[in-house]
Amino acid sequence: MQTERLRIAIQKKGRLSKECQDLLKRCGVKFNMMGERLVVHSENMPIDLLLVRDDDIPGLIMDGVVDLGVIGENELEEVGLERAARGEPSEYVKLRRLDFGGCRLSIAIDKDADYAGPQDLQGKRIATTYPQLVKRYMDEQGVQFSTCMLNGSVEVAPRAGLADAICDLVSTGATLEANGLKEVEVILRSKAVLIQRTGDFNQDKTELIERLLTRMQGVIQAKE
Ligand code: ATP
Ligand code: ZN
Repeated sequence: MQTERLRIAIQKKGRLSKECQDLLKRCGVKFNMMGERLVVHSENMPIDLLLVRDDDIPGLIMDGVVDLGVIGENELEEVGLERAARGEPSEYVKLRRLDFGGCRLSIAIDKDADYAGPQDLQGKRIATTYPQLVKRYMDEQGVQFSTCMLNGSVEVAPRAGLADAICDLVSTGATLEANGLKEVEVILRSKAVLIQRTGDFNQDKTELIERLLTRMQGVIQAKE
């Protein structure tokens, strides 16, 4: 279903939403965020913004439901692996890396535990929201492990006796420290990225995307 207006999925509320809205505004896209609406129409360009949970953005792109999306690479890769494992479409085009949303996905263990390398995680249970990325990393290392899937409070899992280690997003490390954990492996360095669905675009949309990308380049360079 090819719509006339360009559809861009962005996080409704969270760590990516403000910077994402600012970026679009600096690119000259005028819109008014009001209330709890799912779709916000730009006032000056043929663009509709879809305000959703970040978890939904990769799937919306991979199913071709929206044209563009802004998402953290961590979430994008996790969903891509999960969908590929289920035999669902997992393709997308990465248009550009953005200058916000920086974080790392890291394994952390009890701060007092000895650690010499990934082999020390052999047979351990790892609490995480990113089981696919953990599995990819541990398979690469040839280390057996089990998971404890948690969508929140991952950092308290070891203390609560639910897991031996965690794999979670870190930016400063303060949360780890507050929970008596130390970072031992970085398995992914992530930033927000602009992605596009695969498939055809009509001439108008192609030109609009090119215009947005050119402006984005200028906006991001001006900040550096
Ligand atoms: P939603 O309600 O949309 O599902 P969420 O709670 O899953 O939101 P946020 O905490 O807002 O997600 O994080 C969104 C993204 O921000 C993360 O997936 C990651 O790419 C990025 N990010 C940057 N720094 C951090 C950090 N310190 N902790 C967590 N995420 C971070
Ligand atoms: Zn989320």
